[in-house]
Amino acid sequence: MDKLVYLFGGGRTDGSAEMKELLGGKGANLAEMARLGIPVPPGFTITTEVCRYYIEHGGRYPSGLEDQVKEGVKHLEEATGRSFGDPENPLLVSVRSGAPVSMPGMMDTILNLGLNDESVKGLARKTSPRFAYDAYRRLLAMYGSVVLGVKDEGGAGVDPFDAAMEELKRERGAASDLDLTADDLAELVARYKELIRKAGKEFPQDPHEQLWGAIGAVFSSWDNERARIYRRLNRIPDTLGTAVNVQAMVFGNLGENSGTGVAFTRDPATGENRFYGEYLLNAQGEDVVAGIRTPKPISELERDMPQVYRQLLEVREKLERHYRDMQDIEFTIEEGKLYLLQTRTGKRTGFAAVRIAVEMVEEGLITEKEAILRIDPAEQLSQLLQPIFDPAEKAKAKVLAKGLPAGPGAATGRIALTAEEAVRLEKEGQPVILVRHETSPEDIQGMAVAKGILTSRGGMTSHAAVVARQIGKVAVVGCDGLNVDYEKREISAGGVTLKEGDWISIDGTTGEVLEGKVPTMASEVVQVLIEETLAPEEAPVYRLYEKLMTWVDQYRVLGVRANADEPDQARVALAFGAEGIGLCRTEHMFFGEDRIPYVQQAIIGRDPAARKEALERLGKMQAEDFEGLLRVMDGKPVIIRLLDPPMHEFLPKDDAEIAELAKRFGLDKEELKAQIESLHEFNPMLGHRGCRLGITHPDLYDMQVAAIFRAAAALRKEGLDPKPYVMVPLVGHVNEMRAVRERIDEIARRTMEEEGVEIAYKVGTMIEVPRAAITADEIAQAAEFFSFGTNDLTQMTFGYSRDDAGKFIQEYLKSKILPDDPFQTLDRKGVGELMKMGKEKGRSTRPDLSVGICGEHGGESRSVHFCHEIGLDYVSASPYRIPVARLAAAQAALKG
Ligand code: ADP
Ligand code: MG
Ligand code: MG
Repeated sequence: MDKLVYLFGGGRTDGSAEMKELLGGKGANLAEMARLGIPVPPGFTITTEVCRYYIEHGGRYPSGLEDQVKEGVKHLEEATGRSFGDPENPLLVSVRSGAPVSMPGMMDTILNLGLNDESVKGLARKTSPRFAYDAYRRLLAMYGSVVLGVKDEGGAGVDPFDAAMEELKRERGAASDLDLTADDLAELVARYKELIRKAGKEFPQDPHEQLWGAIGAVFSSWDNERARIYRRLNRIPDTLGTAVNVQAMVFGNLGENSGTGVAFTRDPATGENRFYGEYLLNAQGEDVVAGIRTPKPISELERDMPQVYRQLLEVREKLERHYRDMQDIEFTIEEGKLYLLQTRTGKRTGFAAVRIAVEMVEEGLITEKEAILRIDPAEQLSQLLQPIFDPAEKAKAKVLAKGLPAGPGAATGRIALTAEEAVRLEKEGQPVILVRHETSPEDIQGMAVAKGILTSRGGMTSHAAVVARQIGKVAVVGCDGLNVDYEKREISAGGVTLKEGDWISIDGTTGEVLEGKVPTMASEVVQVLIEETLAPEEAPVYRLYEKLMTWVDQYRVLGVRANADEPDQARVALAFGAEGIGLCRTEHMFFGEDRIPYVQQAIIGRDPAARKEALERLGKMQAEDFEGLLRVMDGKPVIIRLLDPPMHEFLPKDDAEIAELAKRFGLDKEELKAQIESLHEFNPMLGHRGCRLGITHPDLYDMQVAAIFRAAAALRKEGLDPKPYVMVPLVGHVNEMRAVRERIDEIARRTMEEEGVEIAYKVGTMIEVPRAAITADEIAQAAEFFSFGTNDLTQMTFGYSRDDAGKFIQEYLKSKILPDDPFQTLDRKGVGELMKMGKEKGRSTRPDLSVGICGEHGGESRSVHFCHEIGLDYVSASPYRIPVARLAAAQAALKG
C-alpha cells in the first residue's frame, strides 16, 4: 500500500475507468472523463484499500495517508488558484463516497466543505452574501447529519435541518428556498448551529478537521445498516469498501446563469434513444433529486442556455461512444460553464435494457455477444413477460392522478404508507403498493416487498425511481395530484380519499394512478406468442425480445426443456422456446376431481377386480394425457416420470371425507380409517415413495407405462413422431433401477406388440438421492439418461426438509451461515459436487448418457451457469422461466 491517493483533473490524472476496484466507480469515471477532455472539477480519490484498512483497524488510517491527502489538497489549490482555509478566497470541496459498484443513495456526500464563520464572510464579499450563506447553511446541515450524526429525536423520520428550514420559510412566508434572503440564510446558519449544539456536538471551524471528519464518516458509512441491507439485497460483497473523492466545488447556485442537473443518455424507462434528464437553475447538488423544487425537463435547457445544451449533447455523444452503454450523468453549470460531476452506467428497466442492447447492436456500438451479456435474465428479461393492465378493465377504473412513469408494468395492491406496514402486509400474503411522499434508503425493505411504489414528490431520478428501476418494481413517482397524509393514515387524489389498506393500482408505463383493484392481462410478448391475440407488427416490445432471443440461441450450448404436465403448459413452453419436456410429473394428473376416486380405489381397494378396474380407468385417462403432451411436443423428447409421492397424499385426512370414501366403496369406516392410518409415515419425504412404491405396488407403474406406450402408438399410427422417455424417480441403488426397468421394458414390449408398432424410447432415472450420484457408474448400467432432481438432492444432501427449512434458512441467510438459499440457488460445493460426480461416473459407464437437470434450479440463472460449467446436456425449467434459462445458458457459454 504505497499509493493511497490518486489525482484527477486540473492537468494531472492518475487513474482511469479500469481502476474501479481501487478508486470506486465514481473516482475511476471522474478520472476517465478528465482523460477524455470532458470538463471535470479537479479532485483526488482516496482508495478503497484505505477503507478496508480503516474498517479492520477500528477507524485508524494507514501511515502515509496524511501526507498524500496534503498533496491532494495542494493539487486542488494549484488547479483552482484558491487555498484551503483562506478566509478571503477559500477553496471549497465536496467529499463524496464511491464504491466499486454504485450504491445509489447509500452513502452521503458533503458539499461546500472548507467554509467557516470567517471564510463565509470572505466568500460573501467575493460572490454575494446570499450565495455564501446558502453554501454555509448547506454545509452545516450535511455535516451535522452525516458526520456529527444530528438526527431527529422524535423518530418521525424528519430531518431536523429540513424542519428548521421549513419553519423559517413559514415564518418568512416563503414558498421556496429561493425566496429566502441572505439575512434569512444567515439566520438559518445560526439555527443550524444551535441544533448541533443542542445535540451536544460542535461544528469544527478548522477546514482540515472538517475534511478528516468527513473522510472518516464516508468510510464508516460503508458499514451502516442501510448500506449493509442494500448490499445483501444486491449481492454486493462487504469486503469491497468505498473510496472517498475530494473534489473542488463548482456552484450551480450562483444565480440564474447557473444550475445543476442529472441526465441519462437514453430513456432509462423505455430505452428510447433520446436524451433524457432534468435540471434546476440556481440550485446545488442534490436539489434535483431531492424533490425540493420540481425540476425542468432537459429539453428546456435548449432555450435557457443553448450553448450549454449543445455542449451537453456533445458530452452525451462522446460518453456513449466511449463507454458503449447508456450513461447516467450529473452536471453543474457555474455561470454558464458546464462541468461533469459523475458518469456511470445507468440503471434501467428490463424493457430499456433489452431495447438499448438490441439497438446498440444495430447502431454498431456493441456486438451481439455484448448485448446478450448485458441483460439480467431474472431481473430484466423476465420483466417483458410480466402482466400489464387489461385496457378494457382499466377504462372502467377511475384515474385518481397522474405521475411520472418510472418503472413500467402494472401493479395492484393494498396501500401501505410506511415500509414497516408494507413488510407486515406482505407477510400476511397481501400484495402491497408502498405510497410515500418520497422514499429514502430507510424504505428499502418496504420497497423490496411491494408490488409497486408510488410517490407524490421527486422526479425520474429520485430515489424511488432509481431504486424501482434497479429492483424491477412498477413505480409512479412525483405524482403532484396525490396527497399523502401520514398522520391520518390516508391518501387523497382526484377527490377520492383512500385509507391505508385500501386497494389501489398503478400503471408504471403511463404514470396513471387508479382507484381499486384493476385486473391485469398478459404482456405483449405473451399476447403474441402464447395467446396469439397480437400481431408481431403491432408489438414493438415483442420484436425486440424476438431479436435478442435469436442471438441467444446462436450462442447457447445447453439445451432448454420444460417442466410441464399438460398440453397447455407444453404449448406455452414451446412458444417460449422449449426443446422438449424435461419433466412431466404424472402425479399432477392424479389429483383431478374425476380421477382421485379411482386413484383412491387403486390404492386402498381390497377387491382385486375393483382395483384392476380402477387402474384400467386411470390408464385410459393417463393415455389421453400423454397423447396430448406427446402430440404438442411431436418429434421432441418428452420425459415422463412415473409416480413419485407417498401414497397417503392421495387419501382423505378428516373424518367426514373418510366416511364419504367408505360409503362410496362400501367399506367399513373404521376399517378404512385404520388402513389409511397404516399408510401414515412419520417422514414421508424419506418414506414409501418413488421407485420404492413402484417396486412394492408394481401395478401402478405398469398402468402408467402401458398408458405411455398406448398414447405413443396412437400418435405413431397418425404418422407423428412421439419420443417418450420413461423416468424412474428416487433410485438410490442399481438394483432398484434394474427391477423397475425390467418391468418397464416388458410392459413396453407387450403394449407395442398389441398395438403393432415400434417406438424408440429410453428409460432413465432421476438422480436425487445422494447414493445415486455416488454410485452413478452402476446405475448407468441400467439407465439411459439421468436427470438431476436437485430439489430432493438438496434436501437430502443438506438434510434440510424442503417443507420446514424456511424458518432457519432465513436466519442462516441473515447471519451469513449460508450465502444463498440452497433450494433457490444451487449449492455448488456440496450438491454441485455430487452432480459433477454423478455425471462423470455415469458417462464413464455410458459415454452417450444424456444428463440434465429438472429441479427448480433449472430456471435460476446462477444454477444454469453451473450446469453449463459441468457440461450437462440441458436444463429443464417451468414454462415461464424458459426465456430466462435460454438467456442464462447463452451467457454461461459466452463467459466460458
Ligand atoms: P451520490 O452518490 O449520492 O450521487 P454524489 O457524490 O454524486 O452523491 O454527490 C451528490 C450531489 O452533489 C450530486 O448532485 C453531485 O453532482 C453534487 N456534487 C458533488 N461534488 C460536487 C462538486 N465538487 N461541485 C458541485 N457539485 C457537486
Ligand atoms: Mg447521496
Ligand atoms: Mg452522484
